[in-house]
Amino acid sequence: MALSGILSEFRSSKNSKTRKLKALWQIILNDGPVRADTLSEKANMNAATCARLLDELIRLGLISAAELGQSTGGRKPILYSANPDKGRLAGIEISNIYSTIVLQNFRLDVLATCKIKATGQETPQVLLDKLLTRLQTLLEEHNLTTADLAGIGIAADYTLPAGSDRQAVNEYLIPHLKEMAETRTGCPVTIGSGVNFAALAEYRLRHKQSRRLFFTTCDAEIRSSTILSEPIRFMPPGTENAFGHMTLDLRGRACECGTFGCLNQYGSMEAIRNTVVQHLRRGEPSVITTLVSDEQEIDYHVIFKAIELADPLCTEALEEAAYYYGQAIANIILSFQPDVVVCGGTLTPKHTFFATVQKTVAQKLAGFPQIDTQIVAAFDSYEVVSQGAGAMVLESLLSDNP
Ligand SMILES: [Zn+2]
Repeated sequence: MALSGILSEFRSSKNSKTRKLKALWQIILNDGPVRADTLSEKANMNAATCARLLDELIRLGLISAAELGQSTGGRKPILYSANPDKGRLAGIEISNIYSTIVLQNFRLDVLATCKIKATGQETPQVLLDKLLTRLQTLLEEHNLTTADLAGIGIAADYTLPAGSDRQAVNEYLIPHLKEMAETRTGCPVTIGSGVNFAALAEYRLRHKQSRRLFFTTCDAEIRSSTILSEPIRFMPPGTENAFGHMTLDLRGRACECGTFGCLNQYGSMEAIRNTVVQHLRRGEPSVITTLVSDEQEIDYHVIFKAIELADPLCTEALEEAAYYYGQAIANIILSFQPDVVVCGGTLTPKHTFFATVQKTVAQKLAGFPQIDTQIVAAFDSYEVVSQGAGAMVLESLLSDNP
């Protein structure tokens, strides 16, 4: 049976056998190679049903069986593994800086990747149109067509300028982009937030034992995604930016949300820029004055350049942001107790930022040794969001409510 036929059956059919096939395939994809008895236990099926369904998955070409396990006397147990190359996934991150397309197999290995620089003026629709044309070429280069794709995942939120009307984006723009991509390619399209996609890639590729994963990115604004497993559940769409509005100072700086003292005003890249500008206005010395001739020219690149040059003013501003970001993460850990916190975004790999975040959290949590949360830096990879977009295609295909 052709892949597209199997997958469309998986997507549309609600019958109990299809659901069981999907459940088994998902366990093998995530945990394989795995033994039949482990499978029947995890999927809560009796051994005979499980064996029959495994035979069917083998016939469909989605899995293989091999005698590879440790023998416990008598016959060697059979291990079931997914056939990752049975199909392909495409992940796209649309961004007004660099957009990325990746082609993946079912194990989420990246097989091909392509990066496109935006001119900065395109609308999301124009950008997506260009990216879909590029995807077509990428498929042809690998002797593939859209029929070989199990679906396309699209992260569209990084294309939005600051202050965009989020409700309008979620209600109109996102469904419009999804429909546009589906009509053009004939593939099922999963569209969502880049933060959720990156969180899913982290979970699937590095932290699959986690039961409560908190993922956060520190860029111009601060975002987060929480993954509760299994089955995976995400926070509702449109809430990725909520963490940035956690109150850190009751009488603090005004925020564009209309309240005071939000995390974004202290821990984000924009906060660092504001701090640097304020200090310069007071006439404090900084290498920045030799890098730009006008205050308007002070952007993130200039500040990062100054930090590389060991400028005390900019380094201090970065440290202060890391301190506040660390306090906010400590608040999350105290109230929610995730087992893993993953920090990503532009700031995490900069200078001592992440080390200061870790130190701040450790100091705050020193009185709670029973809280055992691991804090790690995210993949420092530009393709992680699109990789997660591909993972989301599988997630939505295998969910009971696609
Ligand atoms: Zn706010």
